[in-house]
Amino acid sequence: MYRAGDVRVENVSDATLAEPTDALVRVTRACICGSDLWPYHDLEPSDTGRRMGHEAIGVVEAVGSDVRKVRKGDFVVMPFAFSDGSCDFCHEGLQTSCVHGGFFGYSEGIDGAQAEAIRIPQADGTLFVLPVGEDEALMPSLLTLSDVMGTGHHAAVVAKVGRSKKVAVVGDGAVGLCGVIAAKRLGAEQIIILGRHPDRIALAKAFGATDVVSERGEEAAERVRALTGGFGVHSVLECVGTEQAMLTSVSIARPGAAIGRVGVPHYQATSSWELTFFKNVTVGGGPAPVRAYIDELLPDVLEGRIQPGRVFDRVIGLDGVPDGYRAMNERRAIKVMIKF
Ligand SMILES: [Zn+2]
Repeated sequence: MYRAGDVRVENVSDATLAEPTDALVRVTRACICGSDLWPYHDLEPSDTGRRMGHEAIGVVEAVGSDVRKVRKGDFVVMPFAFSDGSCDFCHEGLQTSCVHGGFFGYSEGIDGAQAEAIRIPQADGTLFVLPVGEDEALMPSLLTLSDVMGTGHHAAVVAKVGRSKKVAVVGDGAVGLCGVIAAKRLGAEQIIILGRHPDRIALAKAFGATDVVSERGEEAAERVRALTGGFGVHSVLECVGTEQAMLTSVSIARPGAAIGRVGVPHYQATSSWELTFFKNVTVGGGPAPVRAYIDELLPDVLEGRIQPGRVFDRVIGLDGVPDGYRAMNERRAIKVMIKF
């Protein structure tokens, strides 16, 4: 991506091993993320551009001399952040704060995954070796373990979703839809999706949403309160990252509620903090440590209990990536998968 709205597919030098802890992965599926649309709107022009993409599954082609767990030929998931698997934060399940970590398609010198192959730093800590081969039907859902399913799950965990809880999901993008899956999976009694795109709403209902609120702002908050006996929800999954989404989240949180925010914030601060204090509302969240969640989510994917791969409603080849960005930006696609 060379500037806002300018995505090109170009030949670059092949990805290679650089450090003894690296692996080289041949990408079999990658995708475009809702968060890729932020730079698509506001990236400053540059001559070198940014190599985009942070979600992929693929096959290990080579490993460095210090790599012990991952082997050539393994079929792997690449979480959107790399991590060494051995520092304090990795042990605490917060791999996105790894002291040797960083983010694909973002950190200096780190490749993007919208590519035929990618160098994976800290391969032993980063990659999750899948216990299955390249199963065509499972591929889309396995790919969501790279980011959106784990991120939706993180929002639900931080928002303390559990049995008999009333839950609201703010945002009907792929993460919000995966948040619906996560809330249902964790036993929520009521799941209200805030969104307005018919195809997304239909999918949210298929995933377990019990109510739909298509209003915005204070009208949306009033509707949510009406649907919940007047007080609002116990758990809010904030899956957008705008100030309006955060204000709505605070507004629909009942006293004692928790808000799990996973939408990358695109605002400085909000005027909502006083309200969170007087309602005893907990606000948490951040970049999801998806690496920590794969163990828990994978069995449900493998056994078909959850099908987060249904968020992909368009499949393209690598040459179609610029069109894929356009389709997602214009809301003509929920999430675009790149098939190699
Ligand atoms: Zn670490």
